Amino acid sequence: MTAKVRVAVVGASGRMGRTLIEAAKQHEMIYLGAAVERKGSTLIGVDAGELAGVGTMNVAITDSLDIASEHFDVLIDFTSPESSLVHLEWCSKNNKAIVIGTTGFNHAQKEMINAFAEQTPVVFAPNMSVGVNLTLKLLELTAKVMGDYTDIEITEGHHRFKKDAPSGTALKMGEVIADTLGRDLEECAVYGREGMTGERDRNTIGFSTIRAGDIVGDHTVMFADIGERVEITHKATSRMTFANGAMRAAYWLSDQDSGLYDMQQVLGLN
Ligand code: NAD
Repeated sequence: MTAKVRVAVVGASGRMGRTLIEAAKQHEMIYLGAAVERKGSTLIGVDAGELAGVGTMNVAITDSLDIASEHFDVLIDFTSPESSLVHLEWCSKNNKAIVIGTTGFNHAQKEMINAFAEQTPVVFAPNMSVGVNLTLKLLELTAKVMGDYTDIEITEGHHRFKKDAPSGTALKMGEVIADTLGRDLEECAVYGREGMTGERDRNTIGFSTIRAGDIVGDHTVMFADIGERVEITHKATSRMTFANGAMRAAYWLSDQDSGLYDMQQVLGLN
């Protein structure tokens, strides 16, 4: 029988962190070796000390990756861009693999991830759900057939606490469409069309954002012509879908050489 993969969850008291701990405990091929959180973090009412509930599994609970180090081989990180980069650098110095689910990285930060991945196995994906990654494939196909002559608009909705906008998933969807059409997303993206007058430029890709209540993650991409339109929608109703994807990524990554991978590769959708 293949051995279980030992993981640590960093950002353990966050919305995703707590879901990741649940998913790790339920996954038969994953061993949760450590839960790491900033000292004194009381985000959404959970003190780092309260994570002691997971201690029944012999989990190291700590605010230090150095202390957790002997308990895991793959770090699962859903924190913030700045923290994820610190953790990535630590992983590359300490021979660990890392699954990064954090979103909101700027261009220079993405370049740093690229550089670290030369000596570290990294899965980096703004959305780890199977459904969204299948949706990316559907978008590629739709863009090939309809993208040149339709108006393309991407709408996304998330909970009121989300820090970045548009979502990393919406941007990834835009990137897949732009790549398929041979466009540069940075040049053709339009964020909001409030106050717009005059005809819409068909070469642009529009982004609209909604932040409300506890929406886990909704995305719709519209390819609209005169007379018909195609709308492709994905709705996440539970964070467990992202967490299970992250476990799948960690298991897959434990067997890979250094390099930057995405969920399409993890899921064999390439
Ligand atoms: P959150 O704010 O609820 O949780 C983040 C946690 O990380 C907090 O508990 C914080 O204290 C902790 N943290 C930050 N820096 C740390 C450090 N240096 N060491 C230890 N802990 C640290 O946020 P969230 O809703 O859980 O989302 C986290 C990230 O994951 C966001 O960027 C979000 O967009 C992204 N996300 C990605 C996916 C995906 O499938 N890839 C799905 C959902 C959310």
